[in-house]
Amino acid sequence: MAAALSSSSCIFCQIARSSTSTTLLHQDNKVVAFQDINPSAFRHYLVIPIEHIPTVNDLQRRSEDFLLVSHMLNVGQGLLHRDAPHAKHYRFGFHQPPFNSVDHLHLHCFALPFLPRWKAIKYMSLGPFGGFIEAEKLLERIKPLSSL
Ligand SMILES: [Zn+2]
Ligand SMILES: [Zn+2]
Repeated sequence: MAAALSSSSCIFCQIARSSTSTTLLHQDNKVVAFQDINPSAFRHYLVIPIEHIPTVNDLQRRSEDFLLVSHMLNVGQGLLHRDAPHAKHYRFGFHQPPFNSVDHLHLHCFALPFLPRWKAIKYMSLGPFGGFIEAEKLLERIKPLSSL
């Protein structure tokens, strides 16, 4: 992978190294999770790898990447089920370039509804803003061909 282990100018790398005041909701040796600074839903969390991986385009069809994204999704699901157990819908997904706001891979985790509702357009997978990919779809795309 061409990505550097961390980039000092990257805000998410700083959060991952706990060098900001951001409250971490989860932390292990692979990922951290925190609240989106500008929440678009009843609950809106981000799960990021500690390693600086810029975008979904840097992920490959191999078990290392597949396991990382699976783990990110598990962490996000666990947090939302804990903090928003009564939400009717959850959504998990990634922005695809050029629609990603920060060039450090981050999983958006939503307990819906979107607040305000127009924000939903930022996270649609179809149409002119088709820059969002559901986590499950990404996992399909990078699933290693030999079964795990
Ligand atoms: Zn970074
Ligand atoms: Zn994003």
